[in-house]
Amino acid sequence: MAIDETVRQHKYTLTEDEMPTAWYNIIPDLPAPPPPPLHPGTQAPIGPEDLAPLFPMALIAQEVTTDRYVDIPGGVLDVYRQWRPSPLFRAHRLEKALDTPARIYYKYEGVSPAGSHKPNTAVPQAYYNAIEGVRKLTTETGAGQWGTALAFACALYGLECEVWQVGASYDAKPYRRMMIEAFGAEVHRSPSDLTEAGRRLGADPANQSGSLGIAISEAVEAAVADPTVRYALGSVLNHVLLHQTIIGEEALLQMAQAGDTPTLIVGCTGGGSNFAGLSFPFLREKLAGNIDPRILAVEPASCPSLTHGTYAYDYGDTAGMTPLMKMHTLGHDFVPDPIHAGGLRYHGMAPLISHIYELGLMDAIAVPQTECFAAAVTFARTEGIVPAPEPTHALAMAIREAEKAKETGEETVILTALCGHGHFDLAAYDAYLRGEMQDEVVSEERFAAAMATVPHVAE
Ligand SMILES: *Cc1c(COP(=O)(O)O)cnc(C)c1O
Repeated sequence: MAIDETVRQHKYTLTEDEMPTAWYNIIPDLPAPPPPPLHPGTQAPIGPEDLAPLFPMALIAQEVTTDRYVDIPGGVLDVYRQWRPSPLFRAHRLEKALDTPARIYYKYEGVSPAGSHKPNTAVPQAYYNAIEGVRKLTTETGAGQWGTALAFACALYGLECEVWQVGASYDAKPYRRMMIEAFGAEVHRSPSDLTEAGRRLGADPANQSGSLGIAISEAVEAAVADPTVRYALGSVLNHVLLHQTIIGEEALLQMAQAGDTPTLIVGCTGGGSNFAGLSFPFLREKLAGNIDPRILAVEPASCPSLTHGTYAYDYGDTAGMTPLMKMHTLGHDFVPDPIHAGGLRYHGMAPLISHIYELGLMDAIAVPQTECFAAAVTFARTEGIVPAPEPTHALAMAIREAEKAKETGEETVILTALCGHGHFDLAAYDAYLRGEMQDEVVSEERFAAAMATVPHVAE
């Protein structure tokens, strides 16, 4: 085989001093504000006091702020510097393997201690809770990435941490549980018999594999029951998306370093946080008329909240304890098939992303998992990183678009978030490589049944 000895730049790095020091809030730049969350009982817009049993005041303030930028506290910047700024890579070898004229860049978040983008928000969430004197945080985890990130962050600031892990992932990914425990947190299989919600929902055999919606109900119930405990959510909420914008702010600087401008920004969406984190700073530039990339969210065909869900007020959890949020939802009762991208198995989409989608500022598409793993293997064999199952969805679309560029000859510059590595997800690769992975088709009956219990909200 001929060895290619052309010297090309693969990696764009920033110094610690160049790391952005503020998070970006897109809300004031949107043509219309997103609809407010409603109280689950009265259906009136909620106020800060309704959220106080769940979150510290600093995060409640960030949830509703209309400031364009929020300064990152020094105590958070110090921790970010352990792995940030994260690298941006140009995928020269992948491009060559695809024989495409498209230029492909990926922002790699797998360099964090948890192996994903999740510590970008876990660290500030734990920080603000610690400052306000909270003793313990409860949370859910799907694939285990968020539980790992929060356990890591709690350990740094001396907080206790209790995690409800979705049953299917608890059974399939023991190493994630062990890593969470290594950071000092306690892990339960959800549905558990430790909460009223877990006992009630767990009584239905259909719920035995668990879901993010059920695990959220359990973690919320446990937090509300004790005034020294608060709850932390790893995606969906405005303050979570806000914290993740450090990804896109860095990527803007790195793309400038590369002297290139994306024509397509593509990311995977579970609750929407890594996608928002990468794309919102670029969307700011697009709204200002400086660049014009297409912004594309990719979701799994077995949990297609944006492309198949209804834009409606729904609960964030299965038991109906959270505020009602206007979002693209498959229904809070929807229990997705236990696909390998556990982090994408959420019935709803971030209200802010749902709103931006409704405004027509972005597109979405659903992709089946076998195509994603085919893309992941191509990526691993050229770029040397085994991706987490979630970002393989974005890679599948990046590859589709790179192949299209080959046919049309249209100038294509793709930027994607490689939001985590797959070192704890090798069983999924095993299933794929043995030819045992299947693409589930969700029946229209199942979609309809879950939508039937979405509450009626007069607007
Ligand atoms: C949690 C997770 C996701 C899904 O969450 P988003 O909020 O949509 O980003 C995707 N990829 C990885 C690696 C994750 O850990």
